[in-house]
Amino acid sequence: MGSAAAYHLARRGQRVLGLERFDIPHVFGSSHGVTRIIRLAYYENPAYVPLLRRAYELWRELEALAGEALLTITGSIDSSGRDGAVFQGSLRACELHDIPHEVLTGAEVNARFPGFRLPPKHGAVWQPDGGFLASERCIVAHVLAAQSAGAEIHARERVRTWEVAASGVKVITDRDTYEADRLVITAGAWNADLAPALSDLARPERQVLAWFQPMIPALFQPATFPVFNLTVDEGRFYGIPVYGIPGFKVGRYHHRHELVDPETMERQPGHDDESLLRHFAERYFPDAAGPTMALATCLFTNTPDEHFIIDTYPGSPQVLIISACSGHGFKFCSVIGEIAADLTIRDSTTHDISLFQLARFPRDTMAIQAFRL
Ligand SMILES: Cc1cc2nc3c(=O)[nH]c(=O)nc-3n(C[C@H](O)[C@H](O)[C@H](O)COP(=O)(O)OP(=O)(O)OC[C@H]3O[C@@H](n4cnc5c(N)ncnc54)[C@H](O)[C@@H]3O)c2cc1C
Repeated sequence: MGSAAAYHLARRGQRVLGLERFDIPHVFGSSHGVTRIIRLAYYENPAYVPLLRRAYELWRELEALAGEALLTITGSIDSSGRDGAVFQGSLRACELHDIPHEVLTGAEVNARFPGFRLPPKHGAVWQPDGGFLASERCIVAHVLAAQSAGAEIHARERVRTWEVAASGVKVITDRDTYEADRLVITAGAWNADLAPALSDLARPERQVLAWFQPMIPALFQPATFPVFNLTVDEGRFYGIPVYGIPGFKVGRYHHRHELVDPETMERQPGHDDESLLRHFAERYFPDAAGPTMALATCLFTNTPDEHFIIDTYPGSPQVLIISACSGHGFKFCSVIGEIAADLTIRDSTTHDISLFQLARFPRDTMAIQAFRL
């Protein structure tokens, strides 16, 4: 979110300083692990679809600037029991927004894409525009494009705090102090450090990714295997074909429901993490459940309703907070960068971001929101 915001602000002629506490890119936040799913049939809420359409356009523009492929189209499968939220929500988004799609049964998915072994009576939406982004490459591309447009970017410089100043804001880091008209905070799992009002609304949660060697590799390539979201007895999972790491990638949303402090969380994946994901792969993708190729931990930052926060910071209209993308934000980085620039430069955007306002959380209940993890 930060690299995209820096790029969109710089391309519109703003003087931009981007500050990152680790390297660019790095493996401690929410955006590493080689790939992220992008899909148009948005079961989470159809209100995201117009943003997704713009996000796809902007990713393609960024690819052209970067001169490298960032977005690979595989098609997407969204599947659950026929009454389940993934199938019903995906279908609703397609119908409301006139998105090309096909409704299949689990058995039909298994016949068309033989890597799958879905419960035969499951409902499934096949949508041809789904695919994945090369996430670290996207960050690098946004940073390079921001630098080309004149932005100054500093890695290994941690923001300690900020305060309102006559000029706008003063930002104090472990290396220097800066003054600016505006501040955009995109600190991911660390947002609450810099925006304490979010501490009860943006909760970091440990996640684990696994890559397993496919036993029949031809079935799990980008040309043969669509990205998927799948709810089964064991929970809601997602997966991506072989790319960048020699394995089929799989993860479970809200992995083991571990709310954590990103400074102290267990970074090493353990046996329990691996066996949860292996069990899923063996049952629903048995031809992909070969030896483990890689494991990684990562962080979600969740709001109670799992929608994003894009708003000015309470009491500080010169500070914009972009946060808590609740495990589904990466695909939107390109358009959120554009929104960040709109809001910073002219205090408004033509994109509909009403779903992301802080006011949806009643102030007096902010501190006692129950999390449905
Ligand atoms: C396992 C996993 C799978 C996911 N799958 C998908 C998917 O398939 N599709 C999808 O769309 N989304 C997915 N997501 C969600 C998506 O990746 C995140 O929503 C997105 O990456 C969040 O980006 P961010 O910029 O908010 O956070 P980050 O990328 O973590 O960026 C925040 C940055 O702020 C820096 N920072 C923090 N504090 C400071 C400070 N004090 N000073 C300076 N810098 C600071 C951090 O070092 C970090 O680099 C997934 C997330 C995870 C963890």
